[in-house]
Amino acid sequence: MKLLVTGGAGFIGSAVVRLAVARGHSVVNLDVLTYAACLDNVAQVSNSPLYAFEEADIRDRAALDRIFAEHAPDAVMHLAAESHVDRSIDGPGDFVETNITGTYNMLEAARAHWVGRGRPESFRFHHISTDEVFGSLPMDPQVKFTEATPYDPRSPYSASKAASDHLVRAWHETYGLPVVLTNCSNNYGPYHFPEKLVPVVILNALAGKELPIYGAGENIRDWLYVEDHADALLCVLERGAPGRSYNIGGENERTNLDLVRMICGLMDEIRPKASGTYVDQIAFVADRPGHDARYAIDPTRIRDELGWRPSVTVEEGLRRTVEWYLDNEDWWRPLQARHGVGERLGTDTKT
Ligand code: NAD
Repeated sequence: MKLLVTGGAGFIGSAVVRLAVARGHSVVNLDVLTYAACLDNVAQVSNSPLYAFEEADIRDRAALDRIFAEHAPDAVMHLAAESHVDRSIDGPGDFVETNITGTYNMLEAARAHWVGRGRPESFRFHHISTDEVFGSLPMDPQVKFTEATPYDPRSPYSASKAASDHLVRAWHETYGLPVVLTNCSNNYGPYHFPEKLVPVVILNALAGKELPIYGAGENIRDWLYVEDHADALLCVLERGAPGRSYNIGGENERTNLDLVRMICGLMDEIRPKASGTYVDQIAFVADRPGHDARYAIDPTRIRDELGWRPSVTVEEGLRRTVEWYLDNEDWWRPLQARHGVGERLGTDTKT
């Protein structure tokens, strides 16, 4: 298949690009290269004849029309987005423009392309979204997000993603565009931008700095290794039914405090401190406004209908992630220096 992947220089998009090329798909990576992008994330495939890069903005409809005409993709995997919850609280405008208007442009460009090719049934517009659109769950472990959970977004980020999900469904119902949607839980793994919780904890631990945790650290998230997410996305693209949405989760619920303690334990084992333990660096900071208490995914549909389940436990995935950051200082050090991240925005739990 020829795939047009948006946001392929970001964290999850680059995992999708690497996996898709490894599986023999041809990939056009469309990315405007915001602060969150890094082309090193796709260095291992960038010389492949299966790979092409287009620097373009999804807010620029004319650029999208040119790219669809030039590359004639069989499917779109739409990941480009502003993704950082804390940044959406400080400045929501970019989230509305990229996540809502940008998705509208992608849908219109894809629809024109699909109609122009005679409406092939095999075409897919795969919209990649988040479980945050469903709002916050009670602590009762029996209650989880299903595909039927009503939308209840609570941050500018999740509201903009919810709006984009609604547009995608409307383009299916109204115009017949063959879409699939996925809503996924928290990802972690290699190439995660150093402002996010897992890398911040690893890198601050290494630097002897505080490990900031919002509130009492009791918020619960479901953690999925990013390469498992990429595998699930290709599975839904290939086998998902048009118009259907699938929740993707790791079946790994942890409080933020537990997760940070697990990382500290791994660091104690892999890179022990001269004295004491990394847990001593944990610091509790004032909570984020509107901080959702719990997210948890019921993965029944993707498991029963498509036969997909995660392959990596959170213990194994975190070990791989810690080792990756310890081995890849050349990747994170320049990003950290260029963007001044890792301290102020160090407590985001989501993306
Ligand atoms: P990211 O911030 O790491 O990457 C986003 C990419 O999109 C960057 O490369 C950026 O340059 C690009 N981009 C941003 N605005 C653009 C624009 N206007 N035009 C073209 N490209 C643009 O994000 P991520 O964590 O990889 O998330 C990817 C997608 O997955 C997002 O849609 C996000 O909502 C969704 N998601 C993320 C998580 C998570 O835990 N990270 C979980 C569920 C869903």
